Formats: sequence, structure tokens, C-alpha cells
Amino acid sequence: MLRGLGNPEPPLDLDQVFELLKLDAQFYTTTEDGVFRETISRIKVGTIQIFKRPMLLLEALVKSELKALYIPDKKRILVDSTLPDLKVRWHTAHEVVHSICDWHGDVLFGDNFSTLSQGCHEQIEAEANYGTGRLLTLQDRFIQQVCGATLTLKDISNIGKTFGNTWTSTLWRVVESLDIPAFAVIGTHPNRRGSLEPCRYFIRSRRFEQEYGTFSEADALAAIRSYCNYKTLGPLGAGEAQVTNSRGEETIFLLETFAHQHDVITFAYLTRKTTSLISIGTSIRGDGTVC
Ligand SMILES: [Zn+2]
Repeated sequence: MLRGLGNPEPPLDLDQVFELLKLDAQFYTTTEDGVFRETISRIKVGTIQIFKRPMLLLEALVKSELKALYIPDKKRILVDSTLPDLKVRWHTAHEVVHSICDWHGDVLFGDNFSTLSQGCHEQIEAEANYGTGRLLTLQDRFIQQVCGATLTLKDISNIGKTFGNTWTSTLWRVVESLDIPAFAVIGTHPNRRGSLEPCRYFIRSRRFEQEYGTFSEADALAAIRSYCNYKTLGPLGAGEAQVTNSRGEETIFLLETFAHQHDVITFAYLTRKTTSLISIGTSIRGDGTVC
């Protein structure tokens, strides 16, 4: 796809992608049903053929809380227009990836979301999300920019702006792309009372997974809580965590946390090995200051 577009500069223009793939992207809201009044064939939700009652598609979307959908026979992408712009971008690109993976069409529409086995559904969604990340970061362009650089959350935000992507999705791709031990936590505020999901996603670089197999979400949250302030927006602090790797060596990670409008995000990466030879498990040294 990127070759077909002449290996473009970031940010990727999704309109050009639609043109290249001859896709028709339309927006809908669940209160305006114009899009759903057209006859849409070949889509089954359960045992009911949607084309007999196109409005069933709208009902199915609302019920399953889907934010976007790809309709193969019309080569049409439907996206919920009430999403914030950058989320529309992610969801639209996600449906583009479904559209180029022939086998996804069979899985999505030959069966429905409730009867499809969970494992199978997760597999194709993981494929679509992987493809979306690769597409919106223009594959190796992003990796060249990220690897070998010392990054702060602010740098990651700027990279996100360059590529036209959200801060959170950029952080996710950064951690996946890094060739050093690194992790990220995305969720709600780790310290505030009533915070429902302080670790919605725990993302680890390949080397982190290999070298810190026993380090858990709970360890990550404990490290973050040691320095994290109670503000609801802006920088929440930074600190160091001493973490034992699988060879029993003590290493130091630098952590930084920020609360933006949608999520609290933490980025952590290995900075150095300590000289200590005594393994004491995970301990945290936070100074509460912002890098
Ligand atoms: Zn999907």
C-alpha cells in the first residue's frame, strides 16, 4: 500500500489510501440513520440477513458498541463520527487493514461477533491493530526515528504529531519498536480514589519480555505510585525503579507519567545497570520531580 502511494512522507493521508484501494469511507452517527437505509447485502448478524432490514446493521453496531465497520461488497468503511478526530483516524485505518486481509472478511461476515470464537476474533483484531500501527507510522520511517534515540514522553508526543497519530497510540508503537528493555502503562490515574483501570494496557518491548519475565503489571503500578502526584492533567512526575532482570542483575529504569485528556500514560526504559551485586527484587526510588 505504501509503495503504491510512492512511500509518502508523514503524516499518511488516508484519503489517498481510500483512492488507491477504491474504498468508500462514510461517517455515521447512531442518531442519524441515512447510511443504513441503503440496501446492504451479504452481511449476516447471527442468522438474520441484514439486507432485508438494513437498520439491523445500525442496531447491531449500537449493541456491540462498534466504532467502525468494513462492508466488503460495497468496499465501504463506516466510522462513528462522534469519535475524536485522531480516534477516527485509528479506527478508519484499522478497517482499511481489514479490507486488505481477504480472510478477515470471511471471518467478520461469515459469522457474527457473538458466535465467532473469542480466540479467532482476538487473532484477527490483533492482526488489524498490528497492521494499523505499521500503516500509520509508515513502517520503517518510524522505527528509524525511534530506535537509538533517548525519548521523553514529550518527544513521543511530538513524533505522534509528525505522523498524525494520538500520543497514546504513538507510545504503544514506540515501546513495541524499541530495541532496549522498555515498557508503558496506559490507564486511569494510579493514585486517585475511584480510579477504575489504572493499568488498562501493559505494553512491553521484546527485550523487556525476554529479560524481565517476572516483572508484572502490579510491579509497574507500584513503581509509578511511588512518585505519581494527584493532579488530573499534566505531568504526574518521574522516578527511578530498581528492577532485577532474569540474570539476577540489578538495573535502573527511568519512569515518567503524564495525564492527558483521555488516559494516564507512563513510559519507562532501562537506563543503566547498578554496581550492586545483591539482588533485592524490585525497589523504587522516586523523587516526584518531572524530567
Ligand atoms: Zn476490527
